[in-house]
Amino acid sequence: MKPPPFAYAAARSVEEAVAALATAGGEAKLLAGGQSLVPMLNFRLLRPAVLIDINRIPNLDHIREEAGGLVIGALTRHRQIETSARIAKHFPVLTAAMGHVAHLAIRNRGTLGGSLSHADPAAELPLMAQLLEAEIRIANGRGGRSVAARDFFRAALTTALADDEMVTEVVLPALPPGTGWGFEEMAERRGDFALAAAAVTVTVEDGFCRACRIAVIGDGNGATRARDAESAIAGGPKDAARIAAAAEAAAGAVMPSSDLHASAEFRRHLIRSLTARALDAAWRRAEEART
Ligand SMILES: Cc1cc2nc3c(=O)[nH]c(=O)nc-3n(C[C@H](O)[C@H](O)[C@H](O)COP(=O)(O)OP(=O)(O)OC[C@H]3O[C@@H](n4cnc5c(N)ncnc54)[C@H](O)[C@@H]3O)c2cc1C
Repeated sequence: MKPPPFAYAAARSVEEAVAALATAGGEAKLLAGGQSLVPMLNFRLLRPAVLIDINRIPNLDHIREEAGGLVIGALTRHRQIETSARIAKHFPVLTAAMGHVAHLAIRNRGTLGGSLSHADPAAELPLMAQLLEAEIRIANGRGGRSVAARDFFRAALTTALADDEMVTEVVLPALPPGTGWGFEEMAERRGDFALAAAAVTVTVEDGFCRACRIAVIGDGNGATRARDAESAIAGGPKDAARIAAAAEAAAGAVMPSSDLHASAEFRRHLIRSLTARALDAAWRRAEEART
């Protein structure tokens, strides 16, 4: 399949890229890794008048420490995130999730900014942004802004980005000491988009859960925090009944429909089991972190 005709411009700076977006008045698309954009062009789901290539903009692929957390540049490739020792140290749950993103060739090109901006409902990076309460830094011609992940993702393939805005960095705030993590995903084949996934962090102190975050993928709306499931765990000790209650609540947080790949009932079943497994693993890791 061939894309519709488009003009091409390579931006040398963030300022150049956002100026070009503003000039195009909604008719332009940024080109990062091209792993979602190019298929959409080839299927003629998009017909931008101009592509603005941001791959030559320097200093947008950093992973640096800031206030105990990390700041990751928008052009950081999936594979860089997957193999970063800094990320493995601060956010091992992110390292674990990256191994499930597509195939190696795609991970070599796909970028953090591209995945968040594309906002595929089954993608792992938006799930991680929700779980890790990321702040998304955005450039525009008006001084820029920062948007919390919970406000950034509006619906499937829809974000808070305006036509003339570009994601530049993602801030991941530090997790408290004594935090364990769990990540579980089910896809039809390794590298396929997830049928369902659950990502969890649990902070444990003196045998009690001080904080719990649970984010799930399982319907066409995109990653969501399962707040009722979090409440079922927070404040209490580890026990099977609480984990089962949380898993049930997580399954209730998604509204799957049946399609060629799985029935709605099966997707809910997956969320229930994946959440229970992820919670169990997160609690165990939290206890290990304390010893
Ligand atoms: C066969 C296949 C399987 C895949 N499987 C998975 C999977 O299992 N999990 C998964 O998460 N992903 C999967 N992907 C998608 C992949 O992760 C993409 O790399 C990612 O979604 C988009 O990143 P990109 O850098 O390639 O963005 P591009 O394709 O270049 O751009 C995507 C969109 O984001 C916009 N954009 C790009 N960068 C920015 C920015 N900095 N600011 C604002 N807008 C921007 C573009 O204009 C475009 O609209 C798969 C892709 C393929 C082809």
